[in-house]
Amino acid sequence: MSMQEYIDEAESALLHTYNRYQMVLDHGEGVYLYDMDGKKYLDFVSGIAVFALGYHNKEYDDALKGQIDKVIHTSNYYYNVPAIEAAKKLKKASRMDRVFFTNSGAEAIEGAIKAARKYAYLKDGSTDHEIIAMNHSFHGRTMGALAVTGNPKYREAFEPLIGNIKFADLNDFDSVLAQVTDKTCAILMETVQGEGGLYPATEEFLTKVRALCDEKDILLILDEIQCGMGRTGYMYAWQRYDIKPDIMTTAKALGCGVPVGAFLLTEKVGQHSLTSGDHGTTYGGNPLACAAVDKVLELFEKEQIVEHVRKVSPYLEERLQELVEKYDCIQCRRGAGLMQGLVFDRPVGPIINKALEKGLMLINAGTDIIRFVPPLIITKEHIDDMMKILDESIGACL
Ligand SMILES: *Cc1c(COP(=O)(O)O)cnc(C)c1O
Repeated sequence: MSMQEYIDEAESALLHTYNRYQMVLDHGEGVYLYDMDGKKYLDFVSGIAVFALGYHNKEYDDALKGQIDKVIHTSNYYYNVPAIEAAKKLKKASRMDRVFFTNSGAEAIEGAIKAARKYAYLKDGSTDHEIIAMNHSFHGRTMGALAVTGNPKYREAFEPLIGNIKFADLNDFDSVLAQVTDKTCAILMETVQGEGGLYPATEEFLTKVRALCDEKDILLILDEIQCGMGRTGYMYAWQRYDIKPDIMTTAKALGCGVPVGAFLLTEKVGQHSLTSGDHGTTYGGNPLACAAVDKVLELFEKEQIVEHVRKVSPYLEERLQELVEKYDCIQCRRGAGLMQGLVFDRPVGPIINKALEKGLMLINAGTDIIRFVPPLIITKEHIDDMMKILDESIGACL
């Protein structure tokens, strides 16, 4: 079948929840993807911050193939070696104490919410606890994750969601204070907001929220699903600061393409929240997914991915800043590490389409921001190639 025939077939079979670009991807190599017709694309999306190690890392591929030859799935009622190895490495990388593997980011958020509610329930036996989340946040599409997602557009048609969720503004401590009551059991935020516009939480804000949580025995939940796994130049973005969450979520790059996520707890929360019978999953933490996690974390160390991000990301910032100076229609650049955004005064869809035509994959965040979340292995040369196409594409859309 031709590429167009595949697209037509897709539009008649798949539920139309995405406006897809008019190409069918076939395979990848390093930081490049190829469509069915052999057209090559420089990928600055990486499956939305997933494919950190690039496509076809041989050691990663071999690890998965090796696990397929052994066993892909067993129930969580039995131990399996990849899950144990992956949990050990993830504990070390995250500096957290207890791991629960999930199949996705949204499920990690669901687990985090359940752990926080159970922790509060064990303290006072009541069932009316509140969670404070942030405006412009994004935590996923399941009902619990939607309930804490501060974007009315995503939520409205699906109300009522889970109750007792309040919203405050990121980096506005007073707005958080204003929502705190005796019933508050958790404060949840992305350490760097992704979908909501590439806003990093400031050190001052995180420090104040941490102190508030300590004072009132409220749990701090940090969503590191997009900003974690080395993307900001730290294994997890909060590790840049002198604070630590009580609960943390991770996914996206955790499996580098194999669907897997996790929520992690400190020992204190681990000992006083979810216990046997409280939570479970058929697939979560299965041998195939955990073989991926195990290898990804091994390769992060071996290939010094975090160090590489620190080296290469200032160059991306510098080059993007040049565009801010050059074009009036660009208001600013913001973000952290290899998670950057260019904020325009207009919708960026036409620019992204033009770049795609020219062989560069980019993604938006909201309507007016171009988001840059490339594979973490990109080099200065890739950034130069990207910049050339982006500059031309902006020029063509003025
Ligand atoms: C992508 C994302 C999620 C949801 O993850 P899924 O795997 O799509 O369910 C949650 N939080 C953040 C910050 C994300 O970027």
